[in-house]
Amino acid sequence: MHEITINLHMHTRYSDGSGTHRDIAAAALKTGVDVVIVTDHNVLVQGFEGYYKEKTRKILMLVGEEVHDQARDPQKNHLLVFGATREMAVFADNAQNLINQVREAGGLSFLAHPDDPEAKAFNETDISWEDWSVQNYTGIELWNALSELKTVVPTKLHGVFYAFFPAFVASQPIPKTIAKWDELLAGGQKVVAIGGSDAHALHMNMGPLHRVIFPYEFHFRAVNTHALLPGPLSGDATSDKSLVYKALAAGHCFIGYDLPASTKGFRFTAQGREGTVIMGDEIPAKFGVTLQARLPHHAEIRLVKDGQVIQTWKNQLACTHITTEPGVYRIEAYRQYLGRKRGWIYSNPIYVR
Ligand SMILES: [Zn+2]
Ligand SMILES: [Zn+2]
Repeated sequence: MHEITINLHMHTRYSDGSGTHRDIAAAALKTGVDVVIVTDHNVLVQGFEGYYKEKTRKILMLVGEEVHDQARDPQKNHLLVFGATREMAVFADNAQNLINQVREAGGLSFLAHPDDPEAKAFNETDISWEDWSVQNYTGIELWNALSELKTVVPTKLHGVFYAFFPAFVASQPIPKTIAKWDELLAGGQKVVAIGGSDAHALHMNMGPLHRVIFPYEFHFRAVNTHALLPGPLSGDATSDKSLVYKALAAGHCFIGYDLPASTKGFRFTAQGREGTVIMGDEIPAKFGVTLQARLPHHAEIRLVKDGQVIQTWKNQLACTHITTEPGVYRIEAYRQYLGRKRGWIYSNPIYVR
């Protein structure tokens, strides 16, 4: 398996971001990401997909979109769309139809920032996902860096603090979103979790203070989605795009908060009588299954089965759990960073059936 680091969900001047696609590529080239997926609001921007290079580094830029019904008040139900071959914003008025159309156009759909509370100090409204009756989407954006920011800024002063010290923001996905994910998984469906930046690189002016808050480059070092591919990227944008989207569709990925320490190298596997599977896959319970997680640095590891933590390992690099019980198993890992315990890794589940 070959691991790549993807940073996804960001905005340019084509919607409400401050930068261009070239700015994003330049920022990505300074960091360790391999792929960025740009998602402007309600527009599938053409002409920017492909490889961008500088010296020995190269990154693949892919372009999707973030679709929502602009006539709806408040403007809830944002959907991240990747890999659809045509503009999807025209279907925004009906979430289920939109999801179906994305699927028909060969795309993936992820419910964006499922819990996105209001931030009164900044006149930001609640734009959570509301329509939970929908089906047949690929997954959810479990960790959205901007939603989390909205939970820690009761006053403008808090906002100024985090603008200057952005590393203090991220702590973990919103617990309500994790609970919702577990609930959906318990319903028997596969739901792929991804982590998004929602980067806008906005300019902030407060009196004499001027600052680009949460620049793209900061996000690219923070919450990433790491995917496992059958082999390395070839350098051909068309075939690599398909490899990336196949891995995300299958849930062969995990969310890594790379700021406290790189999450590269994390693996979660299950070994059964007929072979080994990775996160996102199913395996029969019948003859027993050995679940194994391996981490690149010491951390607290939690094994979650059907939404309940069933085992915790402190300060470990690996863990093993043997079971014959069907269930949805996933891993969470935590590390101390800037004075508190923070979520570091959230794996996609292995479905023991
Ligand atoms: Zn959104
Ligand atoms: Zn967004």
